[in-house]
Amino acid sequence: MPARTGSEYLAGLADHREIWFAGERVKSVVEHPILGRAARTLAQLYDMQRQPALQSKLTYPSPTTGDPVSLSFIQPRSIEDLVRRRMMFKDWADFSGGMLGRTPDYLNAILAGCASSLPHFAKNGAEYAERISAYYEFCRERDLCGTHTFVDPQINRARSQSEQADPSVPLHVVGDSAEGLIVSGARMLATLAPYADELYVFPSPSRTQQSDAPRFAFAFTVPVATPGLKFICRDSLDTGGSPADYPLASRYEEMDAVAVFHNVVVPWERVFLKGDIVLCNRLFRDTPAFLHGIHQFTVKNLAKAEFVLGIASLMAEAIGRTELPAYQQMLGEIVDAVETERAYLRAAEADAITDESGFVHPNPNILSTARNYFPKIYPRLIEILQLIGSSGLMATVTKRDLDSPEIGEEINRYYQSATLMGRERVQLFRLAWDLACSGFAGRQVLYERFFAGDPFLLMASRFLSYDRSAAVARVKAMLARSYNDTEK
Ligand SMILES: Cc1cc2nc3c(=O)[nH]c(=O)nc-3n(C[C@H](O)[C@H](O)[C@H](O)COP(=O)(O)OP(=O)(O)OC[C@H]3O[C@@H](n4cnc5c(N)ncnc54)[C@H](O)[C@@H]3O)c2cc1C
Repeated sequence: MPARTGSEYLAGLADHREIWFAGERVKSVVEHPILGRAARTLAQLYDMQRQPALQSKLTYPSPTTGDPVSLSFIQPRSIEDLVRRRMMFKDWADFSGGMLGRTPDYLNAILAGCASSLPHFAKNGAEYAERISAYYEFCRERDLCGTHTFVDPQINRARSQSEQADPSVPLHVVGDSAEGLIVSGARMLATLAPYADELYVFPSPSRTQQSDAPRFAFAFTVPVATPGLKFICRDSLDTGGSPADYPLASRYEEMDAVAVFHNVVVPWERVFLKGDIVLCNRLFRDTPAFLHGIHQFTVKNLAKAEFVLGIASLMAEAIGRTELPAYQQMLGEIVDAVETERAYLRAAEADAITDESGFVHPNPNILSTARNYFPKIYPRLIEILQLIGSSGLMATVTKRDLDSPEIGEEINRYYQSATLMGRERVQLFRLAWDLACSGFAGRQVLYERFFAGDPFLLMASRFLSYDRSAAVARVKAMLARSYNDTEK
């Protein structure tokens, strides 16, 4: 089956999934007055894949059928493949200004990375490698959309799962049967869950003890619409208002949900790691699988930084501040963020590594640094938007005010700026509000801080895993030279 259209994607959501939102079980995600809006946004992305002008950029021929399938599923075998895939990522990221963190290409790329890391799964048993390979092909050929969950509920982070006061809360194995593994408990956060076809349950980063491996060490997937599996959504940041008033929240509210499992049967062909805590812990350390996800979200970060730059530039011009050195410096900071992201991507592709099977992976060192950079810079980019916009972010009204025969003309006049009449200025500043100040904006900052993993641990692991031997040796050599130097 070729890459899906939007309507094919939406039709796939019409199943028996158990999604809870605002105290009610959602009958139909697509027809829901709030949730349905982001579903239709995602459908537009799928439609892009089949547009004649874009199809060759966004797809590649399936290795098994020759049908055009999403390029995000490619297993790169050259730097050109990485570059081609990056351009596909960028087309999708630019569609939302980087506001959709979880476009389906993110997990598609990680899954392709898993399928290029078969020796790791084979260490758990040959059948595990066969299963992940078959599952990758299954998703690629059906163009399925995934969500994933790593993290156990935030009960007591000082304790392992079995040491919790109620150890039945973290997702755990309760038994098995001829059909599969049986699991119960919860996992914290699956972004995009209401809109996904598949849930990827990756190994938890909790401090699982060796003796607990049979209960807590696993990697598997299930369809979102699986009996016994429910998703409980947080409150929506989309108020249901007009896209003219809430240009971002009304379209790109990708939703986060907690996944709760009640004796869910995971078919054996969907169990990819089991009972081996070392293989689970090292899945994304010893294999390049997650690197492909970082490649995707570094492109998203570039799109997002460019989007901020566009809005900040228009705002500064609008209020006649581009001549001020302080504003120029703030805008310069955004330019640096844009170019830093671009440089990470180009460098990671240029210094890509080729593995023994001929698969090509973006450079791990460069992408690890890229992963640590954006959580620090994004809050600053948003601060700059607030500093540039200042009270102008408050001098806004709704579309109804702008269209009002009584006050519309007054607003057009009294809300004008150096470059824009009131109508246009209000639209620009409402967009900036949604990006920098609204509830949607707050979640975006939280997302960038945390979604890619714990920023403290990630930074510490840069030090712990980085090969510093050459740098240390050079310093030691200089110390020795200085000490032995007889010159006074
Ligand atoms: C908007 C959003 C969407 C997300 N979507 C997903 C998703 O789709 N799938 C998924 O699996 N996960 C998702 N996550 C979760 C994300 O993976 C976690 O937030 C991240 O791994 C950190 O874990 P935690 O939030 O449980 O923080 P905790 O582990 O509970 O830590 C709490 C705080 O303590 C800090 N901390 C921890 N150790 C130390 C230390 N030694 N010294 C100092 N500080 C420390 C942490 O950095 C953090 O600030 C999402 C998170 C957010 C905010």
